[in-house]
Amino acid sequence: MSANLQELYQDIILEHNRNPHNKHKSPDCNNCHEGYNPSCGDVVTICMVIEDNVIKDISFTGEGCAISQASASLMTDLLVGKTRSEALKIINDVCSSLCGGNGDLSKYGDVCALTGVTKFPMRIKCATLSWHAAESLLHEE
Ligand code: ZN
Repeated sequence: MSANLQELYQDIILEHNRNPHNKHKSPDCNNCHEGYNPSCGDVVTICMVIEDNVIKDISFTGEGCAISQASASLMTDLLVGKTRSEALKIINDVCSSLCGGNGDLSKYGDVCALTGVTKFPMRIKCATLSWHAAESLLHEE
């Protein structure tokens, strides 16, 4: 990866951490899943409103490092409007790419920025935390 691309990725993460998308409590939502990453102390709770098998709304709350919060923000942008099976496929693509470095995430836009963590194994759990929480939520429903 070129230095410029790395900087760009870092900017996307910092920007999403500063101004996270869809970060709010959903008072009426009873479809939530909390994820906790003890190695870093990150907590992310994902909430979804699913109607007719489509994710109509997705939001999160939580606290933690910039990567964990930016990752949740990027994920909510990507998963809203997707069907359950589309969302599970995306989650699987992202997690297998972040954990094993397999696959190309460029089709998922800014989510690519997360691939920077593959060079820092300690941070991979920060990046995948919200995705695993969303996956559990989709399986629970
Ligand atoms: Zn973290």
